[in-house]
Amino acid sequence: MSEAAPLSFETIVSLCKRRGFVFPSSEIYGGMSGFWDYGPLGVEMKNNIKRLWWKSMVQERDDVVGIDAAIIMNPKVWEASGHVATFTDPMIDCRNCKHRFRADHIEGNVCPDCGARDSFTEARAFNLMFKTHVGPVEDSSNEAYLRPETAQAMFVNFDNVVTSMRRKLPFGIAQMGRSFRNEITPGNFIFRDREFEQMEMEYFCKPAEYKQWHDHWLEQRLAWHKKLGVREANLRIREHAQEELSHYSNGTYDIEYNFGSMGWSELEGIASRTDFDLKAHAAASGKALTYFDEEANEHIVPYVIEPAVGVDRTFLTLLYDAYREEEVRGEKRVFLQLSPLVAPIKVAVLPLSRNEKLSPLAREVSSLLRPHFFTQFDDAQSIGRRYRRQDEIGTPYCVTVDFDSLEDNAVTIRDRDEMQQDRVKVPELVDYLREKLSTDA
Ligand code: ATP
Repeated sequence: MSEAAPLSFETIVSLCKRRGFVFPSSEIYGGMSGFWDYGPLGVEMKNNIKRLWWKSMVQERDDVVGIDAAIIMNPKVWEASGHVATFTDPMIDCRNCKHRFRADHIEGNVCPDCGARDSFTEARAFNLMFKTHVGPVEDSSNEAYLRPETAQAMFVNFDNVVTSMRRKLPFGIAQMGRSFRNEITPGNFIFRDREFEQMEMEYFCKPAEYKQWHDHWLEQRLAWHKKLGVREANLRIREHAQEELSHYSNGTYDIEYNFGSMGWSELEGIASRTDFDLKAHAAASGKALTYFDEEANEHIVPYVIEPAVGVDRTFLTLLYDAYREEEVRGEKRVFLQLSPLVAPIKVAVLPLSRNEKLSPLAREVSSLLRPHFFTQFDDAQSIGRRYRRQDEIGTPYCVTVDFDSLEDNAVTIRDRDEMQQDRVKVPELVDYLREKLSTDA
């Protein structure tokens, strides 16, 4: 692909739909703006991302535990957290085309849809939380919200976790799950959804140590994105200016990704949240949310560092970063250079042709691999087209069963990136692939 033409989101959207990664939600009814459905390949890749996050944030650390809280919480949570009062975006309307925008996304007072100049209404604060009612009566006494972030459940469960898990500072509580935001202008595919998944961790530490933990988590999180395969040159750190900090933060770093066609955009935020949340919930609930510091012999309110990243944004970043086009023997080849860690299918088993002699061995090979790796069997269409299909979904290895296989009990392994071929005996296949696919995660 030439440097001059950055990869467009349309290319990714169309690949995702064509190959079963992501579909527009309720598409047969015209879709729904800001909502997307993950297809058979998408769900595998998404699960890989979530598993890798959980492994690095919870399983591999003895200072972090996980929870899985309810999406609908007592509405008092959102009053205390500041979301009812301040979780708003400034909204403006274009008087000319009647379209609605986020005021902070507009440049030069020109409507991005119709080009009208100075046509905007005054900005109004628009709360991004989705409201619902709990129980059969719809009145203001039973209003509740779909959570706009997963973080608050960690704060309100602080005492439960400290007590039940006998935790000492510093320690973290991690959670991943759905969040909902009634975004004014969802868009750029799954970059900004109205329903999405977040992976968040609240790390509680002594107030004097917050800076060192902020740096620690920034470093850890950057390393994680690189481990999943995002190219270093496309990642950067941006520190928030004082005036853009959220009401709870005394310092925030964003890890940004360079989406060529959209520019540098936030992938993950690593916020220092001070003692804002624990103090706010203690004041509102009347329950002490403190920690007894044995060294100092006093109760303290810990400070908090929060790495917060979206599953969907990570997913989009990985696809965008992995997309490759090249020319092979005069034909365009598209492939996703995904790390085997995240690739939805690890191995494809492809008999050279659909043939009654080849099929039994090919089926046998795929049954041999299936317990170890996510494996796809495909015998439809020409072998060339099947390779192309696997390239386009990022499958690292294709195993081809041919007529020689019937004689020598060996198969050909083709690698996605270099298209090199290796001949391997069937009994050695699992070990061979395990070594090739191993990326130590
Ligand atoms: P933005 O400035 O893009 O609206 P934010 O700063 O409000 O995002 P946070 O509240 O810090 O985002 O959320 C943490 C992470 O959750 C983000 O870095 C992003 O990866 C993800 N995220 C937030 N909002 C959305 C959304 N509407 N769709 C998809 N992912 C989201």
